[in-house]
Amino acid sequence: MLSFWEKNTFTNYDYIIIGAGITGLSAACEIKENWPDKSVLILEKGLLPSGASTKNAGFACIGSLSENCADIELMGEDAFLHLTLNRWQGLQILRNRLGDDAIAYESNGGYELVLEGKDDAFINRLDYMNQLLFTHFNKSLFTLQPQAAKQFGLNQNLVKTVIKNEVEGQLDTGKMMQALIRYTQKLGVSIITGAHVLNVQENPENVLVQTETIDFRGKHLFICTNAFTKELLPGIELEAGRGQVIVTAPIPNLKVKGIFFFDEGYYYFRNYQNRIVFGGGRNLDFAGENTIDFGPNQKILDVLQYYLKELILPETTFEMEHNWSGIMAFGSDKTLLVKRISERQSMAVRLNGMGVALGSKLARDLVEISWS
Ligand SMILES: Cc1cc2nc3c(=O)[nH]c(=O)nc-3n(C[C@H](O)[C@H](O)[C@H](O)COP(=O)(O)OP(=O)(O)OC[C@H]3O[C@@H](n4cnc5c(N)ncnc54)[C@H](O)[C@@H]3O)c2cc1C
Repeated sequence: MLSFWEKNTFTNYDYIIIGAGITGLSAACEIKENWPDKSVLILEKGLLPSGASTKNAGFACIGSLSENCADIELMGEDAFLHLTLNRWQGLQILRNRLGDDAIAYESNGGYELVLEGKDDAFINRLDYMNQLLFTHFNKSLFTLQPQAAKQFGLNQNLVKTVIKNEVEGQLDTGKMMQALIRYTQKLGVSIITGAHVLNVQENPENVLVQTETIDFRGKHLFICTNAFTKELLPGIELEAGRGQVIVTAPIPNLKVKGIFFFDEGYYYFRNYQNRIVFGGGRNLDFAGENTIDFGPNQKILDVLQYYLKELILPETTFEMEHNWSGIMAFGSDKTLLVKRISERQSMAVRLNGMGVALGSKLARDLVEISWS
């Protein structure tokens, strides 16, 4: 039973946001940066944010050549451009908000490996893609870098060529989320963790947000729960997709530097200081990874270890240090679900595995649409 003081002070807000991932935290920042007097509460079910934002690989990427070609096939040129520019703008918002030092941002470039025996027809579209993006970036983003496999110590027998995207970078996921949480709190946002929202009920004057123990009331509600949204909105069109990640122990004289992709972006690796962080392989078991439960998938972990040994570190002995998983949300195409659900409720979910880049921009759009 709450005291009179608790009821008065802790349970009523102008805005309540469900989910303390990049999107929810960034939405809180957008509100406080524009309207410092508004009261904002974030409710997070985990003790730490517990979806994708603290589990990702920290790629500050806007799209490899093969991914871009596939996206144009899927969505058309206009929607592809919109998505790419959203990713770019999202990264600029994140970097400007927190500062590159705080998130350990490094601008080492993105590299797509074209493997022997795999379809490489997309390379013919390199000039077209450069022209398409030139107006927006004022430079040709993609260049062929056939020497890169040797430069980074990769297995040259397996890599046909490499395509570099020079504007891509990498960040430290842990530092970025810690900096974002601290910045959000400094703005005066309340964050309550261990608060699983079970039910939401809109009334004429507010939205009732019920957790296991306490009921909160907000004039506006933002749902930023990404892969877990079906729990609150069962009919929503999104599928959960778990992602597996492994990290090696430190490797002396590691040559890999930057973010790397292969097999249409299904596999991705990077250096983190002198370690390799390597994730992906969801395409090996789409059904098994269509889950909101965290956990390993041994079939995928075995393949990641195989590529690590054969492709990424062919001449180096290394040890595995740790592995983990995170949960993403996907739709039938790559469009994001940012919309007003009712008079007082809006949502921003389904980030299709690109939320490090997109989360901050999506949050800005969320706040804008909640006013329209
Ligand atoms: C393995 C992996 C690697 C990735 N690598 C990259 C990358 O390199 N670059 C990139 O751009 N993107 C990457 N992503 C994607 C990116 O991390 C996500 O798109 C982004 O973090 C989504 O942020 P979000 O805030 O929308 O969702 P989330 O981070 O999932 O946050 C949603 C939050 O809501 C909370 N929540 C859910 N339901 C409730 C409830 N009922 N009550 C209270 N709280 C609730 C959850 O606990 C969670 O903390 C990766 C994702 C994974 C899993």
